[in-house]
Amino acid sequence: MEKTQFKINGKRIYERADELGLCSSPGLGVTRLPFTPESLRCEALIEQWMKQAGMKVWKDGVNNIIGRYEGKDPNAPVLLIGSHLDTVIEGGKYDGMLGVLTGIEVVQTLFDQGLTLNHPIEVVGFCDEEGVRFHSTFLGSRALVGTFTDEDLQRTDDAGITLEAALINAGADPSSYPLAKRNREDVLGYLELHIEQGPVLEKENEPVGVVSGIAGVTRFSFEVSGKAGHAGTVPGRLRQDALAGASEIILFIESVMKKYDPLVATVGKLTVLPGASNVIPGFVKGTLDIRDIDESRKESAINEIMKESREIASGRGIQVKFEEVMKAPPTYCSEEFTSITEQSIKELGGRPIKLISGAGHDAMAMAELTDVAMLFVRCKEGLSHHPDEACTEEDITAGAKVLLSVVLKIANK
Ligand SMILES: [Zn+2]
Repeated sequence: MEKTQFKINGKRIYERADELGLCSSPGLGVTRLPFTPESLRCEALIEQWMKQAGMKVWKDGVNNIIGRYEGKDPNAPVLLIGSHLDTVIEGGKYDGMLGVLTGIEVVQTLFDQGLTLNHPIEVVGFCDEEGVRFHSTFLGSRALVGTFTDEDLQRTDDAGITLEAALINAGADPSSYPLAKRNREDVLGYLELHIEQGPVLEKENEPVGVVSGIAGVTRFSFEVSGKAGHAGTVPGRLRQDALAGASEIILFIESVMKKYDPLVATVGKLTVLPGASNVIPGFVKGTLDIRDIDESRKESAINEIMKESREIASGRGIQVKFEEVMKAPPTYCSEEFTSITEQSIKELGGRPIKLISGAGHDAMAMAELTDVAMLFVRCKEGLSHHPDEACTEEDITAGAKVLLSVVLKIANK
């Protein structure tokens, strides 16, 4: 990516990410939960930078911060660019913030060049995507989509504070949240730049990739029941070891994952009972998380796992039971926006790598409202939700240039 026809200031984005990173509660990395003093400090900086870029700035009823850069026709549908400003506990400086900062930089570039596009642009810093404080999903973007509800306001954090009280305390007027909702016809689309949170771009040696969609997720809890017994007295041939059976099932799940690549399947949690060094495990409880952009491929994989697990269990004289506990459909990015993004990456000298996001993003919620597109920027070792999360200034610059190019193509039609 060597062409420099756009005057993106990547150094400014990089330094601003450092500055926002200081808006954190004490401890490792960045911890910025929503509606806290540190999140208000972060929003004050965002407000200042949005204003410098010629935007009109306001906050809505759930404390999303929005900057609007007027278009030639103020009544034309608006192009939204956004991401989230909250973090996980001991997270990094880029997950979320980078999408907001690059959006502001794109507008700053237009403003500096005195360019007004046909469509207005709004950069949105969503209040809460990670959902750490209120055990929620996409609080900020759901307010724009219109799926935020009165029940959401009654969610409580671990200290028993309701979301409503936290919003009031942060200076917001939660009763006005319905006004945040956008009408489909008023929105041209939604663009989100985000760090990849995975290792593919690093492996492909490309700074920027285009996201074709966000994988759907199915989660199961499972139980394997065998027979506990004395670790010294029950001969191997007479055992009904639940953990040995679960292990065989888990290895089979891994083989299914490899067969159906890019599907991913993870057993992330196991409880072994009774859980003593001198007792044969009689019972295992676990979780299975399966993600894929292709629903029918995911269903095939699930069917294979269920069938083979039962066979493994019956061969061992044990029982296995799976229960589906959560299912979220995949989100597909707009084909038009995706091909525009690929075009922009090529024009800027890159190779458009298509990626599937295995993690959830505000774009998932926004896809219920409008066409969405996502760009991923390479991050060091694919690391995220970690204090060592890192991006280079060069990669950030490359990402912002692609974003600007996409904005020019979409908002200037
Ligand atoms: Zn994020």
